[in-house]
Amino acid sequence: MSDTNIFRPGDGAVQLDAEAIQRRVAELGAEIARDHQHGDLHLVCVLNGAFVFMADLVRAIDLPLTVDFLSVSSYGSRTESSGEVRLVKDLEQSLKGRHVVIVEDIIDTGLTMQYLINYMQGRKPASVKVATLLSKPSRRLVDVPIDYVGFTIDDAFVYGYGLDVDHRLRNLPFVTSQKG
Ligand code: 5GP
Repeated sequence: MSDTNIFRPGDGAVQLDAEAIQRRVAELGAEIARDHQHGDLHLVCVLNGAFVFMADLVRAIDLPLTVDFLSVSSYGSRTESSGEVRLVKDLEQSLKGRHVVIVEDIIDTGLTMQYLINYMQGRKPASVKVATLLSKPSRRLVDVPIDYVGFTIDDAFVYGYGLDVDHRLRNLPFVTSQKG
């Protein structure tokens, strides 16, 4: 795909414009704040795809909070995850006694999130919740609890607002997909 018309959406079924995303992120931020009036709120961003969502979400949460970042990669191609998840960049802070919210861009098969929840639980947090901008329930291979969902979408390969196509197009302010 050329970057010549980078701000032109694709012609697929999933189209979330920047205004709709901003409205929903504000709602999610308010929900997370409401649910974490007490305790030590700690948001963990799953790099790379969730960095844009994370940046907007933290500013929609009107509470003191801390942030950390980790990065995982799954073996296999982008569209067919093998289910083997590997930690590429670890957390820098302890999770002990903290109320953790994992911030993810999209939950597809659920295998990455299953790994992440297990990993976090092993570090003795007070609680672990999951926030994802997007969810594709029709693709799920394992059941994972999701506490905050931005948008539930059909099975399509989406990009923009942090999600990439071969490392590009993360800077689109909207989420889009191509036909087919
Ligand atoms: P899962 O382990 O749930 O199958 O996959 C989660 C990861 O796969 C996401 O964090 C994301 O990196 C990638 N992924 C899944 N679906 C899509 C998609 O439609 N577009 C993009 N850009 N990445 C996706």
